[in-house]
Amino acid sequence: MIAEIISVGTELLLGQIVNTNAAFIARELAAVGINAYHQSVVGDNRQKLIDVIKIAEERSDLLIFTGGLGPTQDDITKETIASYLNEPLALDSDGLAHIRNYFEKTGREMTANNEKQAVYFKNGLAFKNMNGHALGSYIKKEETAYVVLPGPPNELKEMVQSELMPFLLAEINSDRHYILSKTLRFYGIGESTLASRLAPLIDGQTNPTLAPYAGSHEVSLRITASGKDADDCNQLLEQMVKDVLVSVGDYYYGEGEQNSLANVVGQLLTSKGMTISAAESLTGGLFQSTLVSIPKSSQFFKGGMVAYDEAIKRNGLGISQQLLDEQGTVSEACAIAMSEACRQFFQTDIAISFTGVAGPDDLENQPAGTVWIGISQAGKEPFAKQYRFMKDRNGNRQHAVMQGLDLIRRLVAE
Ligand code: ATP
Ligand code: MG
Repeated sequence: MIAEIISVGTELLLGQIVNTNAAFIARELAAVGINAYHQSVVGDNRQKLIDVIKIAEERSDLLIFTGGLGPTQDDITKETIASYLNEPLALDSDGLAHIRNYFEKTGREMTANNEKQAVYFKNGLAFKNMNGHALGSYIKKEETAYVVLPGPPNELKEMVQSELMPFLLAEINSDRHYILSKTLRFYGIGESTLASRLAPLIDGQTNPTLAPYAGSHEVSLRITASGKDADDCNQLLEQMVKDVLVSVGDYYYGEGEQNSLANVVGQLLTSKGMTISAAESLTGGLFQSTLVSIPKSSQFFKGGMVAYDEAIKRNGLGISQQLLDEQGTVSEACAIAMSEACRQFFQTDIAISFTGVAGPDDLENQPAGTVWIGISQAGKEPFAKQYRFMKDRNGNRQHAVMQGLDLIRRLVAE
């Protein structure tokens, strides 16, 4: 089956919104092994939409439309496809009741045009919308299938995951109706390295399927299994997770769509009953802010200091003038001294320090992106590591924070 994603909306063409729906659908399709070779964007215009449909029908079997299911005049997707296919639309009574119920509950007046959101292709299927009003719909005519989905991303995502994908899987393979996926998260390895290390698994994939995804500072891997029930899927997932971790386990830090490195560090520190503090120069409090963004951070995070100016490193943290003169602020010795002073002051089990050159200019003859991260731990030798990030000012700061989190994670997990 070859799919094509057609995003409808003049806002997309004007660059006023980014086409995240197409990216999301493409990932979902890839995860179950459905190829999508083309994507199109078309404005809210009947004739132009029909022109795109004609092209898409020539090269794809499954046309997935997003957007234009709303109540207003410029929402034309369902009507245009229905009249183009010469197929009737019908009102879905459950869908209509859902909309009425919403208007009653919120005390708002329901207008006639809201009813049109409860229509679907009469000779096809309706997809429920748990987060909004417009029903999705599916129809197959001759060799081509057409799916319409709402534009608002929260409505679309829910509908794709709970209605469209299970339906498509059942279509593709009648004995595999159940679908489960798992997201593994990695830090310190690029998407292309991950993909090439996993090539033997990715190339041969049928079930489960593997889809790597590059985030801003990390890579995740979505593993999707289909089977006859949850146990069946879980068995497939477990085996695949094992195979994946054999190749890239060293970079693996946790699982879950919503998980993060900071979250894992917080959980590790909490489970070991350990506390942490931070002395930050170039990161300017970003490390502390990242930790505090995690719920219950008070269980492991005590506090920290932004020691940005040299005088603050001297007067606030007590770093000696001699060290600063001889070694410089961007140095191993300074990073270690900062972490030691921080741990003493905040009385924590671990303290981390960041000192370096955010950029764009060089500092102390060190190129932009040079960062020293220092670690002081009760009863252990303090140490610092040097990194060279090749990003812009804020990219370097963010990378430093992620690297610091990864250092702590590895240290605490030992
Ligand atoms: P509504 O009932 O809100 O009118 P709709 O199904 O008619 O929904 P649109 O009117 O096309 O969808 O888009 C509604 C909103 O959803 C847009 O303003 C935009 O914020 C978001 N949206 C639409 N299409 C996309 C897309 N392809 N990617 C990301 N966001 C989108
Ligand atoms: Mg709309």
